[in-house]
Amino acid sequence: MSQKEWPSWLPLRADIRGLSAYGAPQLPSLAQLNTNENPYPPSKKLVDAIARKVEEIAGSLNRYPDRDCIALRKGLAAFLNSRSLTHLYEENVWAANGSNEIIQSLFLAFGGESALGFTPSYSMHPLIAQVTGTSWINGVRNSDFSLDVELACHQIKTTKAKLIFVTTPNNPTGTSIPLRDIETLVKTAAELSSLLVVDEAYAEFSSEPSAVTLLDRYPNLLVIRTMSKAFAFAGARVGYLAANKEVIRALALVRLPYHLSAITQAIALVALDHSEELLANVATLIADREKMVVELKALGAEVIPSSANFLLFTVPSSKEIWDSLLEQGVLVRDVGLSGYLRVTIGNAAENQRFIDSLATSLGKTQGGKI
Ligand SMILES: *Cc1c(COP(=O)(O)O)cnc(C)c1O
Repeated sequence: MSQKEWPSWLPLRADIRGLSAYGAPQLPSLAQLNTNENPYPPSKKLVDAIARKVEEIAGSLNRYPDRDCIALRKGLAAFLNSRSLTHLYEENVWAANGSNEIIQSLFLAFGGESALGFTPSYSMHPLIAQVTGTSWINGVRNSDFSLDVELACHQIKTTKAKLIFVTTPNNPTGTSIPLRDIETLVKTAAELSSLLVVDEAYAEFSSEPSAVTLLDRYPNLLVIRTMSKAFAFAGARVGYLAANKEVIRALALVRLPYHLSAITQAIALVALDHSEELLANVATLIADREKMVVELKALGAEVIPSSANFLLFTVPSSKEIWDSLLEQGVLVRDVGLSGYLRVTIGNAAENQRFIDSLATSLGKTQGGKI
């Protein structure tokens, strides 16, 4: 989509002409293991509850929704409090159309200067930075993809970036950052009047305590969460932020009026009421992740230790193996790291299909060995 030239009559901003649109392929496949979705669809009981709620509010769709999403923010605060034993209120929580909209709002409110992240990490952080006119600085990690906290603090100090992004568990590597290291980073950021944004899209898959437990001590700490992954609610588009109330107040300046539809707000609350059921599959996915680690290693792959619902593993050639897997109906992610692919943990049948297909692909390329 990007490499094609733009027509000369189109007054597209010069600073975004060279960008590529986000484009994880959405291809028909037997095992769709490329976007870290939860493979388990909502139960009949939940589908019925959502349908009833939509019918209930359909009669008032002539009206704008609650602009401030108060009921939903209360529900999200209660959810975080129940899981992390925090004392958050709706004034500490913001909700939007996926955490991607949260990220965009953060750049609109606090960007303009520079933002720092530690590569490889979530590709949307730099992309949204550029689209909103914030210059992005690629910080570095250790070669095993772990984060060297001292080096990270050094990069925070030397770049003086106003927004610092860390993703834990990290995407695409799956590695997580211990809470005490997050605390070191947020203290360093505070010395420079910078904000530390912790993207916890996969928090529910990790045994590490959430950074929300530090919020009462650090006003410059922002924690992004989503209902897209563990919550199995990607199609509804609900992401949220937990932070100091002054941060939340600032986001109201940049949000579009009535940004979250009445339907989204209402069904997200229904999903929260069913959180136990929705999160019940997390333990299964974690167990299946560990099983897949063993199977990948048996095929000769190196596997990065993961606290998320996906694995990054080595292959002889990213492109060749990706193509060969797709031919067999298995869609995984080429994250642009040469010699690696990323696979999302699916249901048992999808995982088996992936492992069998990978064995076939490897057999084709070099006699079954990586
Ligand atoms: C998947 C993902 C998101 C989620 O985005 P939504 O817009 O909430 O679906 C955010 N951050 C990271 C690191 C992710 O991997």
